[in-house]
Amino acid sequence: MEFRDLKRQYDVLKEEIDKNISKVINSSNFISGREIKQLEETLAGYVGVDHCISCANGTDALTVSLMAWGLNKNDAVFVPDFTFFSSGESPVSLGFPTFFVDVDRRSYNIDPNALEKVIQRVIGSGKYNPRVVIAVDLFGQPADYERIRKICNKYNMYILEDGAQGFGGKIREKRVCSFGDISTTSFFPAKPLGCYGDGGAIFTNNSDWASLIRSICIHGKNAEDKYDNIRIGMNSRLDTIQAAILNAKFGHFKDYEIDQVNKIADLYSKLLDNCGLTLPFIKEGVSSSWAQYTVQLPEKVDRNDVQEYMKQNGIPTMIYYKKPMHMQGAFKGTVSEDADCPITETLCGRVLSLPIHPYIERKDVEFICRKLKESIEESR
Ligand SMILES: *Cc1c(COP(=O)(O)O)cnc(C)c1O
Repeated sequence: MEFRDLKRQYDVLKEEIDKNISKVINSSNFISGREIKQLEETLAGYVGVDHCISCANGTDALTVSLMAWGLNKNDAVFVPDFTFFSSGESPVSLGFPTFFVDVDRRSYNIDPNALEKVIQRVIGSGKYNPRVVIAVDLFGQPADYERIRKICNKYNMYILEDGAQGFGGKIREKRVCSFGDISTTSFFPAKPLGCYGDGGAIFTNNSDWASLIRSICIHGKNAEDKYDNIRIGMNSRLDTIQAAILNAKFGHFKDYEIDQVNKIADLYSKLLDNCGLTLPFIKEGVSSSWAQYTVQLPEKVDRNDVQEYMKQNGIPTMIYYKKPMHMQGAFKGTVSEDADCPITETLCGRVLSLPIHPYIERKDVEFICRKLKESIEESR
C-alpha cells in the first residue's frame, strides 16, 4: 500500500498525459511554451481570480509574492507554528522578522485570537511593523479567512494565502487561492494537484502585483524585453512539460478527484468514530481538498508503537509535523525562536497522518481503520 498512490492515477490518465508530454517534446518549447498560458488561464478561471502566474515551486511562490510587496526590513510577518517548513523559511530567507503563531486545536489552522495577541505584542515592542499574515490551508482545509481578514483590515496588513495543501478546497462557493491579497500553491507530486516534479503558482486580482511577479520570476525583466533587467529577481518558472501534465490532469482533478477524496475522508471519519481518536474537524460551509487525513492519538497511546504496528501490517503512516516551527534549529537566534505555542507543541506529539488519495480503495480504508483501532486497544 502507498501513502499516496501516484501510479494508480497515472494508469487512469496515461493516454492524455503521454500525448501532452510528447507534444511538448515535439514542439521543443520547453520553457514558456503555450501550455503554460493555457494552464494559467484554466487555473485563474477555476480559482476565480484575474491572474495566475506559474513558477518553479510552492516555496518560490511565497518568496516571490513577498518580494513583490516591496516590504521594509522591519516589516513583520506572521506564520502559523504548525505547518511545513517553507511557510516560515520564505519570509526568514528574505530577512523579515517572522513571528510564529499558535493554531486552533480542532482545525489545525492559525488561531485568529492568538494572531491578534502576537500582533499586539509586536506593536508593543515598538521595533517592527506588522505587515503580512501567511495563512496556511493546512491538510487541505482553508484557514478562517473571515476573521483573519478582519484582523488584517484593523492593522492594515496583507494576507498571503499559502494554499499548497488546500488547492481544490473552498469556503462556501469561494475557492482556495482566492482568499489572500496574493495566494500561492504548489504542484509537488504529492499535493492535491501535483505534477511530475516541482512546480508552483501565484494568484492575485491585483494587476500591478501580477506584472511585478511575472518580472521577478524571470530575472526582474522589463515587461517587453527579456534582456532589459530592471530589478533583481530570480529564475522561477514552471517547465512546459509540467504544465502539459497539469493540463492533462486538471479536468479529472476538478470533476472526480476532489469529490472522491472527500468520500474517502467521510468513510475514514465514519469508521474511526468513537474509538478514542480526535478526528479531523471541517467547519460548516467549508470543504477540504484532503491533502492529509490526520488524527490525534489519545494521550496514553505511544505513537511509535502505533506506527510500528501499522507498518507490520503493510500500512504506511506519516507524522505531519513532528516539530513546531519555532523549535526548528534553522530559526535559532532569530525572533522566531521566542514563540508561545502550547497547542502546536501538543499536536506535534500526537498527530498521525493516514494514507489518503482519490484512488485508494474502500477495502484498504476499512483495513487501515481496523488495524488502527486494534493498535490503540493494544497500547492502552
Ligand atoms: C509543500 C508546501 C510548500 C512548498 O511547496 P514546494 O513546491 O515543495 O516548494 C509550502 N507550504 C506548504 C504548507 C506546503 O505544504
